[in-house]
Amino acid sequence: MTAPHDAPDWLLHDELAPDVDNDPLAPLYEGSARGELVLPFCASCVLPLDLEQPVCDGCGSLECVWRAVEPVGTVHSSTVMHRAEPGLVRADRPYPIVDVELASGHRLIMTTLESTQFPLPIDAPVRVAFRNLGGIAVPAAQLTAPVETEAFS
Ligand SMILES: [Zn+2]
Repeated sequence: MTAPHDAPDWLLHDELAPDVDNDPLAPLYEGSARGELVLPFCASCVLPLDLEQPVCDGCGSLECVWRAVEPVGTVHSSTVMHRAEPGLVRADRPYPIVDVELASGHRLIMTTLESTQFPLPIDAPVRVAFRNLGGIAVPAAQLTAPVETEAFS
């Protein structure tokens, strides 16, 4: 297949793709491969957990369950990364990093689905889509409404 999402990732080289079988975030990547955003919750009190959070802040449980969540949220914080690492980073321009507050209660740090040099505005609604990094789907933010960029020019 030669769908657009099979094109090389705009940000990173394929060598940086996670080894899903040996990654503690395997449930996230397996969900992403199906187009679902799958995140951890406490198995006892159902509190949303951070990725790789070993102990629930709410009840102290060590058990977590992974469930598909609605892939929508808003930008909690946003910045633009200036990083030059030839061989690892494909982007030769600054790129955005966003901390997304999801409707599920999770917070997830990611970049954007497509290359842009603008930081995403705080509180902007986003949908979580997936970049294709060496055949592995990884979450990436996509604005759900056009944004005035004049403030950044
Ligand atoms: Zn708990």
